[in-house]
Amino acid sequence: MRSLNRRDFMKAVGLTSLAAAGLRRVGAQPIHEGSAIVDRITEASRGDAAFIDDGRVIQPQREVPVFRDTDVLVVGGGTAGVAAALAALRAGVKVTIVERYGCFGGLWTAGLVLIVLCTHAPIDGKRTKMVHGIGDEILARIDSKKFGAVNYGPDSTRDATTDPEVTKYVLAKMLREEGVDIILNGWVTNAIMDGDTIKGVLFESKSGCLAIRAKVVIDGSGDGDVFDAAGAESVPHVHRIGLVHRLGNVPEGPAPEGLTLGGVTPIPGVRWVNMQGPQGDSLDVQTLTDCELDGREAIWNRLKRIQETPGYENVFLLDVASQLGVRASRTLVGTTELRLEDVLEKKEYPDVVGIGGTYSFLKGLPCPIPYGTMVPQRVENLLATGRCVAADNTMLNYTRLIAPCMLLGQAAGAAAALAVQENSTPREVNIANLQALLRQQGAYLG
Ligand SMILES: Cc1cc2nc3c(=O)[nH]c(=O)nc-3n(C[C@H](O)[C@H](O)[C@H](O)COP(=O)(O)OP(=O)(O)OC[C@H]3O[C@@H](n4cnc5c(N)ncnc54)[C@H](O)[C@@H]3O)c2cc1C
Repeated sequence: MRSLNRRDFMKAVGLTSLAAAGLRRVGAQPIHEGSAIVDRITEASRGDAAFIDDGRVIQPQREVPVFRDTDVLVVGGGTAGVAAALAALRAGVKVTIVERYGCFGGLWTAGLVLIVLCTHAPIDGKRTKMVHGIGDEILARIDSKKFGAVNYGPDSTRDATTDPEVTKYVLAKMLREEGVDIILNGWVTNAIMDGDTIKGVLFESKSGCLAIRAKVVIDGSGDGDVFDAAGAESVPHVHRIGLVHRLGNVPEGPAPEGLTLGGVTPIPGVRWVNMQGPQGDSLDVQTLTDCELDGREAIWNRLKRIQETPGYENVFLLDVASQLGVRASRTLVGTTELRLEDVLEKKEYPDVVGIGGTYSFLKGLPCPIPYGTMVPQRVENLLATGRCVAADNTMLNYTRLIAPCMLLGQAAGAAAALAVQENSTPREVNIANLQALLRQQGAYLG
């Protein structure tokens, strides 16, 4: 039987395409509109097959189709990426977000890390909310849903814990409602460069390799995939890699000695269980593979012990995170590094773009976040955000928490939008204008 090529198949099932409708596109113009299926995408975007030359695998040179042209491109739809996209869009520019998986929230949702540390700090002896703006708006929307959140609200003495499915839903809804251009299942693999200036990225997808051109790119990948590809300097990290899970049917009350039953969630009887995991290089695909497999073994072994404990026989494994728990892999070498000693000495930063809540090693102090932690030393038109910004070995355990990632995201998005509007670069952005924009967007800067 003759096998159908993609074009024949589309014809056979009656699907039309832009090309068939006479809307054939040329060279550098975007090739995708709405959900229309475009002929030849896969052929063009995959290029010719690789070949073997003297035992080496060679990928032929090829032209990559341009899938989008945008003002601000956010790579990664985790906490920071989503906040960045919303902030940039609200500032009035065109925003595209590309995420490698099928949902938003990153480690907060797909990673099943559910407690949002650290939104508050003690001010004059009173627990005071530090995280306002887009981060708090997201939390309030999650809390407004049934079983959305626990411990959110003015009287709570603890940080909020959210439900991962409600969170995924709220994040996607906010992005869609406000008009962010969304690409899911797109894995960014490289940067498009003109000297030291980033011009966009390449991503792999079921439609092959595609290009997105952008005026400013925000790296919210958590691992600095984009700034590394763009040639920005970074610091490598080996950190613990965990695999988080949830348990169902957990009886009320304290856990018996030696049993780990995890933290509360908004759903009665459901707990989320953190995992420290082994130290490893989370940019190494074999390490990631081993951590997934070993992590799952460990979870089932833990569950066996729980189910063997009288009174806990009916506890079950509800789910295991679909995103491995990578804490730190690369951080940017920025124009400023957030350092513990500076925070403890209450250093003031003229480019402060957020004030975060306190954390164990901050001795009750709130934490200012300087803009320079997101700005690469050399590469232009690029910002980092979220857990890969510039911080020392202690402070990266602060900047990687969910609440600081909200602040970093909003700041990066606002700065990127301003750079586009001021026709400047993120490095040259007017800090007073940036701070005014952030305040207008509800952020607290002290
Ligand atoms: C085991 C564990 C426990 C933790 N416990 C807590 C806790 O109790 N409380 C707390 O506040 N924080 C905790 N954290 C930290 C916190 O969850 C994360 O650091 C934070 O959510 C990071 O947000 P982010 O947006 O910077 O990155 P991520 O959540 O990692 O988001 C990055 C996004 O980018 C996408 N992406 C990555 N690479 C690409 C690419 N090349 N192309 C396209 N998309 C890409 C990812 O799929 C992801 O959606 C924990 C972390 C771990 C691992």
